Amino acid sequence: MTLTFRAKRLGATAISAAPRFLTRKPQPGVRVLTYHSVGHQVDGDINDIYNMSPPEFEKHVATILRFSAAHSLPIVPFGSETQSGIAITFDDGYVDVLQTVAPILSRHHIPFHVLITPTKLTSGDSRYLTTQQLKEVALNPLVSIGAHGFEHRPLTSMSTQDAEQDLRRSRETLQEILQREVVTMSYPFGMVDQSVRDAAARAGFTKAACSKWGFNHPDTDLLMLRRIDMWARDGRSTVVDKLFGSWNWFARLT
Ligand SMILES: [Zn+2]
Repeated sequence: MTLTFRAKRLGATAISAAPRFLTRKPQPGVRVLTYHSVGHQVDGDINDIYNMSPPEFEKHVATILRFSAAHSLPIVPFGSETQSGIAITFDDGYVDVLQTVAPILSRHHIPFHVLITPTKLTSGDSRYLTTQQLKEVALNPLVSIGAHGFEHRPLTSMSTQDAEQDLRRSRETLQEILQREVVTMSYPFGMVDQSVRDAAARAGFTKAACSKWGFNHPDTDLLMLRRIDMWARDGRSTVVDKLFGSWNWFARLT
């Protein structure tokens, strides 16, 4: 873990804890939670935050359910056009989405969204879903599927034409596998600028999540949806703070 990250996390935890007791109602808006893996190592995870253990994930789920019930905030599928709610997303397509996450969330009837990088399906890397496993997870009525770049390359460092081509291929490949329309995505590494956002629109996407911190409101650009990053070792009070919106000022640090 880098010092800078540790300092930010400690600071955010301490500062966020104060308003929690003063805030009676959580901020309005749709919270889109970002998870990565529940049980597999995540490449480039220098702060060791994107892989959490199954028991830890179960604790997150219990806290989210309690928060949802306490504040009448429904847990909704990603892309739902609702004023307030909680949506749960998983980036990259780790195999634990099928083996660990689906059984836990299905038990609680919680919908969730999986964002897939098609080249990982055929990479032979056992951490990721195979094409067959993706088809299996897609059969779950609680699961919706979107794209996460064709090759998981940072789209902002590619030419506009190459970025559009990558986005188009990600969408078409998933549609071919799933035999259903795919119109949602998240930007690899959260990296997006105006030209990548416009390329996503031209490639046929109607909803796309970035990594900008915050909640979504009726006037939020649907191709620049904000998310809340959920981390390993986020305790119950941190999960609650993130759901309340106490961490939204964190956007200024990232
Ligand atoms: Zn990713």
